[in-house]
Amino acid sequence: MTETFDHGGGIRSIQVPIPDNPLGYTLVYVVDTDRGPVLVDSGWDDPASREVLTAGLAACGTSVTEVHGVVVTHHHPDHHGLSGQVREASGAWVAMHPADAAIVRRTRETRPERWYAYMAAKLTAAGAPAEHVAPLRAARRRTFPGLAPALPDREIVPGELLDLPGRRLRAIWTPGHTPGHVCLHLEEEHPDRLPGSGRLFSGDHVLPEITPHIGLYEDPDDATVTDPLGDYLDSLERVGRLTPAEVLPAHQYAFTDAPARVRQLLTHHEDRLTDLLALLSEPLTPWQLAERMEWNRPWQEIPYPSRNIAVSEAEAHLRRLVKLGRAEPVAGSEPVAYVAV
Ligand SMILES: [Zn+2]
Ligand SMILES: [Zn+2]
Repeated sequence: MTETFDHGGGIRSIQVPIPDNPLGYTLVYVVDTDRGPVLVDSGWDDPASREVLTAGLAACGTSVTEVHGVVVTHHHPDHHGLSGQVREASGAWVAMHPADAAIVRRTRETRPERWYAYMAAKLTAAGAPAEHVAPLRAARRRTFPGLAPALPDREIVPGELLDLPGRRLRAIWTPGHTPGHVCLHLEEEHPDRLPGSGRLFSGDHVLPEITPHIGLYEDPDDATVTDPLGDYLDSLERVGRLTPAEVLPAHQYAFTDAPARVRQLLTHHEDRLTDLLALLSEPLTPWQLAERMEWNRPWQEIPYPSRNIAVSEAEAHLRRLVKLGRAEPVAGSEPVAYVAV
């Protein structure tokens, strides 16, 4: 059963399933142009997902061979997974922001041993106990399951219009969830004349009910101390100022009143930072902080990979607090512990 939805004004969406994932599906948007449909994201690389995308394009009165281009909001596999196969079938271009294209290149080139060693070193530095890091060290002799995301062939240039003949789609760089995440502003009147400025394809940046994951940007080749949460909060304000009439996100459903949702997300993160500061009345490593933070279930029940994501999220919040001068590393601590200032 293929779920497609007509958003009006030559925009439709296809619910492309993400196997074994509580998110359920990625909304792949089909934007009509004078040169054939352009997709915003492509969906997870899996035979069943590919079948749904193919059937969905047929239900939209077109086909995968007609696709003119694929605009990728960010490199995550639920967004970029099928881009290479769409390009093979159609000759379409695939566009991505250079910061995420660099991650795709690195994913293709980094040997699994190097990746596991990097993750193990990072978790150790964050104060993870030896028994948590051990499986990563053991995994070094195993191989990765064929992880070879497609290299994009076009760069998304922030602030510029994309190559969508007959349409006005502008790239808005919104780093945070990933360093090269983009939202896409369709600068056309809303088909139902809703008040506001056009429509916004928001990727994972702004979702109606989910707070996107903000962790550290992972890069074994780069020692820059980045501030992903700071990037994210700046990007949120940028998107709020656009005041789009409607938001077309990559998961869940389309919604209006973007500024209200942006305010909610800003408040959520402000509250979270305040809660963390209270925890940091005693010195804590990122791991200890993650153990004490509030998650959607008790720490003991959080599965292994999600714990790694949680620690990364704790570190992103710590970076923000340090940058704001509200927390600082404890001199001489090893692994480094942080305390409220
Ligand atoms: Zn994502
Ligand atoms: Zn996603």
